[in-house]
Amino acid sequence: MVKLSGPAAFIYDDSVLKYDFGDDHPFKSFRVRMTRDRLTGHFKDLHIEPARGATRAEAELFHEPGYLDLVKHFSKIGTGLLDGGDTPAFRGCYEASLNVMGATLRAVETVLDGEYAHAASFSGGLHHAGRGNASGFCIMNDCAVALAWLRKLFGKVAYVDLDAHHGDGVMYGFYSDPGVIDVDVHQDGKTLFPGTGSHLETGSGEAKGTKLNIPLPPGSADDVLVSLFSELAMPFLEKTKPEFMIVQCGADGLKGDPLACLSFTQNGYLKVIEALHEISHRVCRGRIVLVGGGGYRPEAAAECWAGEYMALSGKAQTCGTNASTSLPSVLRKAEVIKSAIRENHPQLSG
Ligand SMILES: [Zn+2]
Ligand SMILES: [Zn+2]
Repeated sequence: MVKLSGPAAFIYDDSVLKYDFGDDHPFKSFRVRMTRDRLTGHFKDLHIEPARGATRAEAELFHEPGYLDLVKHFSKIGTGLLDGGDTPAFRGCYEASLNVMGATLRAVETVLDGEYAHAASFSGGLHHAGRGNASGFCIMNDCAVALAWLRKLFGKVAYVDLDAHHGDGVMYGFYSDPGVIDVDVHQDGKTLFPGTGSHLETGSGEAKGTKLNIPLPPGSADDVLVSLFSELAMPFLEKTKPEFMIVQCGADGLKGDPLACLSFTQNGYLKVIEALHEISHRVCRGRIVLVGGGGYRPEAAAECWAGEYMALSGKAQTCGTNASTSLPSVLRKAEVIKSAIRENHPQLSG
């Protein structure tokens, strides 16, 4: 029996709230404060650790210097668009992005240093940003920088993305790197931004077979999430044996999210986090870090993240919801994609 106990660090201070596109924008950094508030006074094993800013050199582990200069320029002006329209610049957006990145790096550090068994930094998870571009509310890609940093220490690190949207910035950023194992469960790109993440995208060159995309039909509920994750993602992680795991916990797959059409409850997400927590102890000495991501009903995202942090702390989580079930037509489509992945993915076929 693998021992799952050991405290988890909750990385937070008010510096991460500066990543703020304004009241009219759907991305709300205060969800992290709400998560903290839900845990405070209620969960006695809450260990809050302050964030830190990331350095320019750290940002350059993934991002192109010219792009960082462009962000800095827009950050001073405080207006304009950093992508086609979803990601506006705001005054201080350069520094704010480095704050979020530093919080994620701090989470990785606490685990590497052995200060904590695990860590969570829910301000992070900005998975759409590319090496030289902003996209989908993401100016700098904290996940990708953390992976690039970890790749200097480890031969094989895993990135698991649970957001409703495909984590294109991370996947394409490491598409030809066999040392980054990428597992991405998302709403089918034919029906949702950014449109990528087909099950046939498995990596290129010597990295072929190191990326696993699981595109789910709209309307997929907990039953589909849990079954496809346990039957495809878990064997893939068992087989590839990463030495560190970063999990992007975007909560916009929750039923009722205004930006996606999945039907998960907190129950489904917690089952997945519990499975990842368990496997982390077996394959990589518990080296697992959770980051945030999407989730456009702030209360629901905060409740979900609070439960996930508790699950990571090895405590029975207080999940008030029952598992949701998918319509028969959705189940049929999910079976089709499951079979297609089993037939086509280099690591899962045969
Ligand atoms: Zn543990
Ligand atoms: Zn999302």
